[in-house]
Amino acid sequence: MALNPVRVITEKRQGLAHSAAELEAFIQAYTAGQIPDYQMSAWLMAAFLNGLSLSETVALTQAMQHSGSQLSLKSVTAFKVDKHSTGGVGDKITLCLGPLVAACGVAVPTVAGRGLGHTGGTLDKLEAIPGYRVDISARRFAEIVRTVGVSIMGQTAEIAPADKRLYALRDVTATVESIPLIVASILSKKLATDSDALVMDVKCGRGAFMQDLAQAKALAKMLVKVGQGAGRKVVALLTDMSVPLGFTIGNALETREAIDVLQGKGPSDVVELTLALGIEMLMVAGAATSRKQARALLQKAISSGKGLEVFARMVAAHGGDARVAETPSLLPQCKKPVPVLAKRAGFIFGMDALELGLVSVDLGAGRTQTDQAVDPKAGIVLLHKLAAPVRRGEVIALLHSSGRAKSESLVERTTAAIVIKTRPPGPTQLVL
Ligand code: URA
Repeated sequence: MALNPVRVITEKRQGLAHSAAELEAFIQAYTAGQIPDYQMSAWLMAAFLNGLSLSETVALTQAMQHSGSQLSLKSVTAFKVDKHSTGGVGDKITLCLGPLVAACGVAVPTVAGRGLGHTGGTLDKLEAIPGYRVDISARRFAEIVRTVGVSIMGQTAEIAPADKRLYALRDVTATVESIPLIVASILSKKLATDSDALVMDVKCGRGAFMQDLAQAKALAKMLVKVGQGAGRKVVALLTDMSVPLGFTIGNALETREAIDVLQGKGPSDVVELTLALGIEMLMVAGAATSRKQARALLQKAISSGKGLEVFARMVAAHGGDARVAETPSLLPQCKKPVPVLAKRAGFIFGMDALELGLVSVDLGAGRTQTDQAVDPKAGIVLLHKLAAPVRRGEVIALLHSSGRAKSESLVERTTAAIVIKTRPPGPTQLVL
């Protein structure tokens, strides 16, 4: 079919529906380099503003999935469960969850993404480990999943290449927070990998792409519907992202915290969410008969050190320095973090996850242009969780970077993002 990109853009600008054939041709032409980024950007904005129907979302997902080849995992006989988060601040869960679930006998093939907007990306976190290669071949990926139990790689030219380019383009054209575009992005790469089941962590709150519960629920439902329609078992949890997860935001800092979890000393919220998602992964794989048993298996994988061992083997298989599993201080570190002080005494009442994510990007942990490199050392260390009492003048956060942290405005923005009141906040819930 002869494709006129201007007609496709105009149709979406007018709120009309595309046919499946049209979307397939559009994505195919973009992947082949026949449609420039400026035209795709215009279409993305039109789709963002006017939406896509369920059938358009299915067609877009399939077109993006088939923009590359199917990643075969036939050689892996274990049940294969992939996990994906819709994106949050301080979300390092995949790094510790994958090895823990693999340690329980379930294969975890994960094709992950880079930081998007104010949210961090699993690949950027893994690349903070000296030598870790995310750009391995599909064959090597299958081999690592078979021999180690878990592999986390990036999209290659082989896996959903359309998403690889669209993801980077959406990041810099303010077109991220759209349910159909998120569903197509996530599921195109997940469906291009031969996993048996998917467990989705759908984030909700200030630091998530979906800020209210109704929208997050709609995203979860659409992910489950489109994923199940493609023949996969799909489970989605709605989880809170109004405050950052754990104490760290930024690549090397978060990798270190994920290692803390595997070493049995992770922050309670990160551990709780890792277990909640791990339980779903073991249940969907039939590796546990009850949630209680699944929790016990995962806890044993932490206390026995088996999860940490699997993590070290995965890192080594990807060419990384596996010594970081025992000695996380080998990760890149900022030598002189800049302290952020409490302006008043009281209790930590709230933390604006979105603003802290944006400060972290400005420190160098994320990108504002597609081709930017990230600074593995950059990010924020929060010294307290919600409800902690603080004194006036006490250090409440540390800004890490390779230079930009001195900027007064970043310190001021962090101060403003951490709200201190004279009373503690009410109780919060992590799994919604
Ligand atoms: N994660 C993805 O893979 N894609 C999105 O669009 C958002 C989060």
